[in-house]
Order: sequence, then C-alpha cells, then structure tokens
Amino acid sequence: MDLLSKIRNVPDFPKPGIQFKDITTLVGDAEAFGFVIDELARRYRGKGLTKVVGVESRGFIFGAALAHVLGIGFVPVRKAGKLPAETIRESYELEYGEATVELHVDALGTNDRVLLVDDLLATGGTLEAAARLIERSGASIHEIWVLIELAFLPGRARLKAWPLHAELVVTSE
Ligand code: AMP
Repeated sequence: MDLLSKIRNVPDFPKPGIQFKDITTLVGDAEAFGFVIDELARRYRGKGLTKVVGVESRGFIFGAALAHVLGIGFVPVRKAGKLPAETIRESYELEYGEATVELHVDALGTNDRVLLVDDLLATGGTLEAAARLIERSGASIHEIWVLIELAFLPGRARLKAWPLHAELVVTSE
C-alpha cells in the first residue's frame, strides 16, 4: 500500500516554513490504519516484548493499537505536568527553549523489554528523551519505531544508541 499518499502535507503549520505531516488522514482510513498495525504486529510478534511505550500524542494512536494486538500493556510518555502520579522527567532543547517529557516512576521495571513508538522522527529530541526515561526505569529497548522519518534532519544520528525502524523514509522537504 502507498502509505505516503495517505498522509496529508500541510504547508506552513504550525509556523511558516514547516511542512507538517498530518497523519489524521491515514488513521481515519480503516484500510491504511489497519495495514500499519498489521505491519507492526508482524514485525514485533514473538520478540518477547512486555510493553509498548508511546509518545504523546500521536504515538498513543499507533502504540495503543499495537499493544492490544500483541496482548501486552501500553505505557504513555507525556508532556510535563500531565501524568498524575510520581514521575521521572527528561528535558531537551527545542529550537526556541526547552521541552520536558515524563514517565510514571512505577510504569516500567528491569524485567521489561519495550518497543518505543512515535509517529514521526524529526530532530530526534523527543524520542531520545523518551528512550532515556525508559532506560532510567531499568527497562531495555528492543527497538524504536516511527511511521515517518524525515531523513533530511539528523534524527537517526541522534538515536544511534538504539535500533530504529521507520515505515516511511522521506528524503526531501
Ligand atoms: P523531534 O523531537 O524534532 O524529532 O520532533 C518529533 C515530534 O514533533 C514528533 O512527535 C512529531 O509528531 C512532531 N513533528 C516534528 N516535525 C513534524 C512535521 N514536519 N510534521 C508532523 N509532525 C512533526
């Protein structure tokens, strides 16, 4: 299936010069969304995973569906201030300022082997922070999965400490 044709490009969102990859058109299409989840299940079934970790917010869509199909739990990594119980946190630099992501301190442990999921890899800051949180919990990362990799940005290099699989690799803006 031509998944790239299911993703809508929105120019100049959220600010001028950014070509936003809108996945709502893909997940709204039952056939396309089902295809992605089936691909994920095929790739990760039987790998001994104990949890799927998804990054707020679009990582939740793919991660939660996959966790259900694999019959394992789903764990959210959220933006600062959203998780109600005790958390650990990691901050990272943005173009302007800083962002923080959090994980519940008791969500993962040393017996967990996780898949980390997000919709899109750009600079890799978000996924690097999420991966650090997972490892600080004592869990191990089987792989990082993204639907879309923007290969003209240095995200993959930033995540070189972990295996990374992208379903779609976009090479130009
Ligand atoms: P980064 O930390 O730079 O890798 O940014 C990744 C996060 O920002 C992902 O969760 C994406 O959902 C979002 N993002 C960054 N750039 C884009 C883009 N061009 N289109 C859609 N989402 C984006």
